[in-house]
This record gives sequence, structure tokens and C-alpha cells, in this order.
Amino acid sequence: MKVSVDPWKCQSHLKCVSEAPGVFRYDEERSYSCAIEGEVPTELEDAARRAVSLCPEGAISIE
Ligand code: SF4
Repeated sequence: MKVSVDPWKCQSHLKCVSEAPGVFRYDEERSYSCAIEGEVPTELEDAARRAVSLCPEGAISIE
């Protein structure tokens, strides 16, 4: 499972970072959240899915 954030949709709510800090981090210079590159560790997949459902902008995609 991989996740990515669309920087054009991200509005910096940080719900993703709060829900899954091991998967998402906030890039202060660019003012949007980023997901870890590569596969999401198995133990973090549920948190990543919750972050997807909590994102008000629909900015996170799962591959
Ligand atoms: S919850 Fe969605 S809109 Fe908010 S920072 Fe995370 S990816 Fe961006």
C-alpha cells in the first residue's frame, strides 16, 4: 500500500499528521503535507486509511 498527497488540494488541516504521524509529515516550507515514500509499513496501514477518510479535501490517494 502506498499513499500520496495532492499538494494542490491540501489545505493544511493536519488531520492526516495527527492521525498517522508515522505516515504523514507537514512540509512547512511548501505548506502542505507529504506522505512517506514507498510502501506504508503494515502496522501503519489502518492509521493511513483513517487519515484518508478524515481528510476534508480528499487530498490523499491510496495505491
Ligand atoms: S488532512 Fe488532507 S488537507 Fe489536511 S493536511 Fe492532511 S492531506 Fe492536507
